[in-house]
Amino acid sequence: MAKQAFTNESTYKRFVEQGKEQEFDDLFDKAVEEAKKQFGKTHPMYIGGKEVLSRERIEERSPIDGTLIGHFQKGTREHAQMAIDAARKAFLSWGLTDYRERAAIFRKAADVFSKHKFIVAAILSYENGKSRYESVGEVDEAIDFIRYYANELEVNRGFVRRTTMEKSTAKVAAGFQGAPSSKNEKVLIRMVPFGVFGVIAPFNFPISISAGMSTGAMITGNTVVFKPSSSDSMTLLTGLKIYESFREAGLPDGVFNYVSGPGSEVGDELVANRGVDGIAFTGSRSVGTSMIMKSYGLGLQKAFVVEMGGKNPVIVSKNADIDDAVIGVASAAFGFDGQKCSACSRVYVHDSIKEQFISKLIDKVRGFRIGNPLEKSVYMGPLISQNAWKTYSEAVEKIKQSGRLLYGGNKVSTGLQGIYVEPAIAEVGKTNELVKRELFVPILIIEGYKDFGDALNEANDVDYGLTAGLYSKNKKEIREFMDKIEAGVVYINRETSATTGAIVGLHTFVGWKGSSVGGKGSGSKFYLQQFMREQSMSLTK
Ligand code: NAP
Repeated sequence: MAKQAFTNESTYKRFVEQGKEQEFDDLFDKAVEEAKKQFGKTHPMYIGGKEVLSRERIEERSPIDGTLIGHFQKGTREHAQMAIDAARKAFLSWGLTDYRERAAIFRKAADVFSKHKFIVAAILSYENGKSRYESVGEVDEAIDFIRYYANELEVNRGFVRRTTMEKSTAKVAAGFQGAPSSKNEKVLIRMVPFGVFGVIAPFNFPISISAGMSTGAMITGNTVVFKPSSSDSMTLLTGLKIYESFREAGLPDGVFNYVSGPGSEVGDELVANRGVDGIAFTGSRSVGTSMIMKSYGLGLQKAFVVEMGGKNPVIVSKNADIDDAVIGVASAAFGFDGQKCSACSRVYVHDSIKEQFISKLIDKVRGFRIGNPLEKSVYMGPLISQNAWKTYSEAVEKIKQSGRLLYGGNKVSTGLQGIYVEPAIAEVGKTNELVKRELFVPILIIEGYKDFGDALNEANDVDYGLTAGLYSKNKKEIREFMDKIEAGVVYINRETSATTGAIVGLHTFVGWKGSSVGGKGSGSKFYLQQFMREQSMSLTK
């Protein structure tokens, strides 16, 4: 088979490089109009390739302005069980399908996503309030994941290898460890799929993460029951678009099942049901760890591919290019309102430049336009939900009582029904619990430091270990940071963003400590292996 080189989709970059930025904007604006035509409908679940309805519905509205996106089925435990049965049945043939055939279907799926890119991105912006650049970038990332994993499967020839040892010519004793065979022994060593995976996705990257986890499971031969986020942050229509794209690419009935319904019911059933062999989950640490404990507590040893939260630090040394650090920190902390697992939420700045850094940072964020993310130049859209506003406002109160609020902290009036807030910058002191807890809203805590080693220790002194950044031109500091920082994704002197914006094929995305289970990254050479188990099969003739 001819090898295909992996290239990133990079839509916005390509339009800009070709001097066609206006065309990019026109395509997105047109897609917004198209998306609106799809809103307000009632959608079924899809189990075993068939439409399935539930007794109750979930109403999905946009966090931007309350636009009705659609009515979806409120799936129950019984629906999860139906989907597990359908997935088990489909596994019987899908699990035995040649890996080249599976890779070809997923390559086609990437093309289908690419064809529908702008419309899916427009729906995404409505669903979770992302700007057009973030939304198109996320669909690009989904496409990149799919193509990257198809490549990996092909390059590794389906993760099968054969070994053999010539029979012994001498007469040797048998029956002890290491005794050579007297006949030819041929061994097949292969990675085989587990069976059925439950794929449970978060609201903040509902397309790229859902498509990435699902592709990881299915391209390796498992079948999937997919549950998008459906509680106070809903991404049900983009979840459906993923289903439609996979089906358009030719995935057989029952290989990918779409079940909308609450995590406490549909998600919990996937975790507790014996018919599910593995769970691919991305979401909060509390849900991730409780799922694992529940499953093991029930005596079930499922495979877990689990990505969780972050409390991502940046160190700005006295040897930093301050302007680069300001741009990098501002975008990492406040892009998509800080609602990225990789968002920077803590900055340690050398005392000698702290006030200068803060003043430049405030100037920078003051220029961020806050409002309707469907509009071209808006940088910060709405918070995802009322719960996120509660977290933001309670944290701001706490800062006012026990620290120094340096900027922001208020609601912004946009004339829209959604919840819009200022980016907030604060100092609270290193013992404050806000330094350790993931807030997932646009609040950045700044602390000064004297000694680089102390700043590193504080950066590491949290349960999480997802992303981290450093701004320094000093080689010794860079080396020390590289040696000691406890994070899976590390950026040094990155101007575009201090902690966010991993690119498939360039970086991998992986958490350490409480940010992940397994320590293998998405978009990585080691990702697919997590969805399979190894088998050594010896045949002596
Ligand atoms: P979440 O509240 O943990 O929800 C994630 C998913 O889990 C949703 O689909 C939810 O379903 C489901 N769920 C909730 N309770 C469940 C249960 N008892 N059993 C099974 N499933 C259950 O997370 P989120 O608010 O959507 O996303 C934000 C979090 O994800 C942050 O912590 C962020 O750091 C993390 N994240 C991590 C990464 C990474 O790669 N490390 C990437 C993105 C996000 P319902 O909504 O339907 O209830």
